[in-house]
Amino acid sequence: MTRPWKLAETNYAYVKAHPFEVAVLPLGATEPHNLHLPYGTDCFEADTVGEQICAEAHERGAKVVLLPTIPYGTETNQMAFPLAMNVNPSTLHAVIRDLVDSLVGHGIRKIVLLNSHGGNDLKPVLRELYGKTPAQLFLCNWYAALADVQREIFLHPDDHAGEMETSFGLAYFPHLVARNPDGSLAADEGATRPTRFEAINRGWVSITRPWHLLTTNSGAGNPHAATAEKGRQLVKHVVDRLATFLVELSAAALDERFPF
Ligand SMILES: [Zn+2]
Repeated sequence: MTRPWKLAETNYAYVKAHPFEVAVLPLGATEPHNLHLPYGTDCFEADTVGEQICAEAHERGAKVVLLPTIPYGTETNQMAFPLAMNVNPSTLHAVIRDLVDSLVGHGIRKIVLLNSHGGNDLKPVLRELYGKTPAQLFLCNWYAALADVQREIFLHPDDHAGEMETSFGLAYFPHLVARNPDGSLAADEGATRPTRFEAINRGWVSITRPWHLLTTNSGAGNPHAATAEKGRQLVKHVVDRLATFLVELSAAALDERFPF
């Protein structure tokens, strides 16, 4: 068995002999990504980041298990695009609560939600379960954990299906990135429209953005400067930051002052 830390690939014999301390639950989405990236982009990203950080943490002695990625996320504002598959926030929260209960029943108290989709608002799950479960919950929106690195690597900021996600795709699922016959990306420019309100455009007031009014083909962010090398650099930084956290978390005692 090459990846005993991946639950879907491991077996009962291994699990019986190797109790886990930390569970990582990745969350993706099923939605269009401009014209060129696959509907499963957020899931492939969640799989890749989860696998890379768990492999590295396992190598360094962490007792960590990677759960299967939840393939659906919240898409209420994307539903004007065909085959965006919505799970309401309250439904998603209920699924996470049930999975947390399962893990607690199996003796796992350290649970990391590894989120890959901006539409998944998961902090309320942590707030609601605080004090009600013996589990310690952690939330990582991995793309947000790398905002500083993204500014260094990429020319254009990426909101959705832009340079960052396209670079990720070129590095880890290049066969699913659509190209024109001349080799250029089969994507539009990912331009977005402002609303009529300055307060919203400047971020003083927020809304859930109706994606069909915000974008042309669902892309928000220019993808054309993407390269596979940029995608690999990004993931190297993710692993540096998050694998170390998993190693520390696995070794940490759950005493009364945890995590301080
Ligand atoms: Zn995405």
